[in-house]
Amino acid sequence: MIDFARLEEIRALAASYGATLVAATKTQPADILKELHAAAPEAIMGENRVQELLDKYSPDYEWHMIGRLQTNKVKYICGKVSIIHSLDRLDLACEIEKQAAKLGNIQNVLVEINVGEEATKGGVEPTQAQQFISSLAGFEHVRILGLMSVMPRLDDADKLQALYRKLRALFDDLKTARQSNLQMKYLSAGMSDDYKIALDNGANMLRIGRAIFGERGLNAQKV
Ligand SMILES: *Cc1c(COP(=O)(O)O)cnc(C)c1O
Repeated sequence: MIDFARLEEIRALAASYGATLVAATKTQPADILKELHAAAPEAIMGENRVQELLDKYSPDYEWHMIGRLQTNKVKYICGKVSIIHSLDRLDLACEIEKQAAKLGNIQNVLVEINVGEEATKGGVEPTQAQQFISSLAGFEHVRILGLMSVMPRLDDADKLQALYRKLRALFDDLKTARQSNLQMKYLSAGMSDDYKIALDNGANMLRIGRAIFGERGLNAQKV
């Protein structure tokens, strides 16, 4: 069930920062997405899994892929998602280039940064980001629109804030890079537990699940 009061609060806050709201819709059934769209037409649907995205897909909404993406599944989502948030390796970029070229499209992407340097997480290490992005310079069907990060779960607000600042500094550095397929526009970070800290520290695209839909698994039996 959508928490409409919380949704309104989040929409107003995002709007006051000029931030884009992506709803993390994993496990939410299609009828909930319809309700969300009616209540918040500006919200983008952010899916984690290709199969789930295809099952729920409707051209009435804007979609983003926010989860880890297997190279062999790129062909199913190119042309359906306006941004892929999770570009973190060259073979994935090559496949996106190939599939977007086939469609005659340019696929927008964000480069995922493992800012917490966690072994279990995807994403490019912060120190490798610049080099990774320059390695994509020749890709004519890939447009890099910014960075994305999944922050570590930290109880220490100061440590979390420090990571956000580090991410924002990297984003600002990359803004000065001149590369024809690079436009540093979006910094996608901030989830249900930390979106206020994220906005205060330079994120301009939020990906929010539980704060809007409640805990996953409670209302998601009908996918
Ligand atoms: C689930 C998910 C989110 C949202 O998480 P919540 O804690 O439910 O807000 C954001 N980003 C990604 C990549 C996710 O998988």
